Amino acid sequence: MPPSEKPPEPESLPRPLTLRAPMGARQMEIDWHDGHTSIYPHRLLRGFCPCAQCQGHQGAIRFREGGSLELSEVEEVGNYAVRLGWADDHTTGIYSFRFLRRLCPCPTCSAGVEPESRSFGH
Ligand SMILES: [Zn+2]
Ligand SMILES: [Zn+2]
Repeated sequence: MPPSEKPPEPESLPRPLTLRAPMGARQMEIDWHDGHTSIYPHRLLRGFCPCAQCQGHQGAIRFREGGSLELSEVEEVGNYAVRLGWADDHTTGIYSFRFLRRLCPCPTCSAGVEPESRSFGH
């Protein structure tokens, strides 16, 4: 759509309609309110855990290897994020929906860049 047709209000916050994280699965899926569906392999979610312990306090959020890839806990946080807990008792990662929307590894959202080689500002 041409820029002139964009609504005047600021970018609306990404909002998930449904979040699927079946026990034993290796991926989490989110259907967004704009009709997009994102599929996140657990490896991607764990690697991009945005907590300070994984990422430090400064710099962009980057993929970090290591840790359990078994999702054990999904808890919505204040309508703007989900907290993901992992089987190795790592439960400090709070993933905002805005971050998750940008993290979507589908070819459209990642623009052909290898999902694990991307980095994200806070
Ligand atoms: Zn972390
Ligand atoms: Zn996408």
